[in-house]
Amino acid sequence: MSLSGKVALVTGSTSGIGLGIARSLAGAGANVVLNGFGDKGLIEKLVAELGSKYKVKASYSAADMSKPAEIAAMVAQAEGELGGVDILVNNAGIQHVAPVDEFPLEKWDAVIAINLSAAFHAIRAALPHMKARNWGRIINIASTHGLVASVQKAAYVAAKHGIVGLTKVVALETATTGITCNAICPGWVLTPLVQAQIEDRAARESLSPGAAKMKLLGEKQPSLEFATPDEIGATALFLCSSAAAQIRGIALPVDGGWTAQ
Ligand code: NAD
Repeated sequence: MSLSGKVALVTGSTSGIGLGIARSLAGAGANVVLNGFGDKGLIEKLVAELGSKYKVKASYSAADMSKPAEIAAMVAQAEGELGGVDILVNNAGIQHVAPVDEFPLEKWDAVIAINLSAAFHAIRAALPHMKARNWGRIINIASTHGLVASVQKAAYVAAKHGIVGLTKVVALETATTGITCNAICPGWVLTPLVQAQIEDRAARESLSPGAAKMKLLGEKQPSLEFATPDEIGATALFLCSSAAAQIRGIALPVDGGWTAQ
């Protein structure tokens, strides 16, 4: 499949799943706009590496996904530099773990802003270009936590259930066009976001990092294996293909059997 000539904007793509998706889309020939936080030098290296390895145009926006004006500016930048966003992957996300009655207010607001509202703002800004071309792919990275819940993740589970709902609305509103909108629902993927949870757990329960990892998987993910950023990238690539043109409004688990239980 070739995405040559298309422009993909992947939020939160300086790390983890977003980076895996950006690599997959660039590997298929899409020009890519990266976004996310991190060391300036490392990000510059990443942009250069993507451009030269896959022979595509690559650029970067430092927009903070908790700030609507910066999200609109990021989409405008992609339009100015590369000609407009054809593939939008809403991936940036954060986690905070605490019981609901102890959940810090500012953490609730941040998780909802970055994991849910940012997708609304980016979709709102990117849709006019997709409508003008009558082609587009919007892929929201939800989670198994968009389908089922776990304790101590009130904000994250609310945001991820919300993004599954948003996905369905956008899919319906674009149903007669060449634009599709779908969500991917990963189970455990070994990224910095999950590594932090493993380390917390190892410290809390006096476990080795290996034992904490197996406990995390054993509770939820029947395959007892992490999904990988490359696998999520390949799933996103499939949703961009013409074979997926009539896949609309789904929430697709890539979860080692987590939600089959
Ligand atoms: P990660 O921590 O490796 O990457 C998160 C990315 O988001 C980074 O690039 C970071 O810089 C960026 N980011 C964070 N806050 C931002 C902000 N305010 N503005 C712009 N960028 C910001 O995490 P990950 O595990 O790769 O998670 C990516 C997405 O996948 C998230 O939406 C997460 O909820 C989802 N997810 C992850 C897993 C998992 O097991 N890792 C499972 C299901 C869903």
